[in-house]
Amino acid sequence: MPDKKGILDFYFKSNLLLRILIGLVLGAIFGMIFQNAGSAIEILKPFGDLFIRLLKMIVLPVIVCTLIVGASSISPSHLGKVGVKVIAFYMFTSLCAIVIGLAVGSILQPGVGLELAANVASAGKEAKAPGLIDILLNIIPTNPFEAIAKGEVLPTICFCLFFGIALAFSLDSENEQVRNSAKIVFSFFEGMNSIMFKVVHWVMQYAPIGVFALIFIVFSKSGAEAFGPLINVTVSVYVGLILQILLVYCVICVFIRLSPIKFLSKVRPPMITAFVTRSSGATLPISMETAEKDMGVPRGVYGFTLPVGATINMDGTTIYLGVCAIFVANVVGMPLDFSQQLTVVITAVLASIGTAGVPGAGAIMLLMVLESVGLKVEAGSVIAIAYGMILGIDAVLDMGRTSMNVVGDMMGAVFVAKSEKELDEKLWE
Ligand code: ASP
Repeated sequence: MPDKKGILDFYFKSNLLLRILIGLVLGAIFGMIFQNAGSAIEILKPFGDLFIRLLKMIVLPVIVCTLIVGASSISPSHLGKVGVKVIAFYMFTSLCAIVIGLAVGSILQPGVGLELAANVASAGKEAKAPGLIDILLNIIPTNPFEAIAKGEVLPTICFCLFFGIALAFSLDSENEQVRNSAKIVFSFFEGMNSIMFKVVHWVMQYAPIGVFALIFIVFSKSGAEAFGPLINVTVSVYVGLILQILLVYCVICVFIRLSPIKFLSKVRPPMITAFVTRSSGATLPISMETAEKDMGVPRGVYGFTLPVGATINMDGTTIYLGVCAIFVANVVGMPLDFSQQLTVVITAVLASIGTAGVPGAGAIMLLMVLESVGLKVEAGSVIAIAYGMILGIDAVLDMGRTSMNVVGDMMGAVFVAKSEKELDEKLWE
């Protein structure tokens, strides 16, 4: 039977990335043509608002499901010494990544000078910044359901981690009944996870139109000047990624007595695959092959470290979250103070655990990070427009951050193999 052709095939069957890019470019061109076009802005605003509302609709279910599934897929019987070592290693490199991201953001200041700052929404300013002890204590929810319902980021993440880890233990329990019921709960969340990603996929079909509307508004209000901050945020993310290689991975290589140059040359195939696919999950087969054939990591080590890395270790995403949080804060004229930066550090590291290794997942986490510092992405607000600008260039940022996510995973595998004296060093001579 011949395929039926729908009238919207030209839209739905074409490449999504290309469509988003076209939305971005057309939004910028039309915005520059129709400068300060009040009525066009009024007409297009609901289209942008719709996109923001759709994204906000999916963010909490997505994070709850991915975090629970992510945390519970680490089997405690595999944990042992090696497991704890690799998780501590991943946490350490993610922490370095967020510090680098915030430092680069503070130096290059992406977003400063964008006209939108004139009509500032003083969202987080009114709230008195809490102290360090309060920030840490507030991570523990007194009522997890209230935290989820109110969209409180850190308490939600905290509860999901507890839940996921307890689920992992139950899946491993000696008691058959506990094991069986845990399996049902795990399948439920796994099912929810894939269902939510279907919804994400649908929402993203609307992204080109939403991005067009949001970018039109920016360029109509600010003209060609809006290009500068977009270029600045891209450059800042990539500078952060390069620094992560030089200051973290290369130093770790030297520390474990391996040539950084050799590591960087061996890691190229997974790095390039991640750049093109924008998915750490999809890159996994190439990462495993490279770890075994080119890096001499035994299967017993990479078989655990790489899948766990692709699920919970996202150094590139963490850098992106730091830089973009500073960008959005600058665009709305509300630079992040110390306690907000600290909140970004904690949220970004935890949010990266809950970032699925699929294209664009980090952009959803950015919503959470922004909300955690009081930058509420309400439809129609300046914050939503700034966020929309980031979404417009997300593909370009996602390529770089996914590459770095995978390089971080490979570093973890090599580090564990070397420290366990299981690395085949002949391949490094
Ligand atoms: N695309 C990234 C990955 O697969 C996740 C992200 O969007 O940050 O690692």
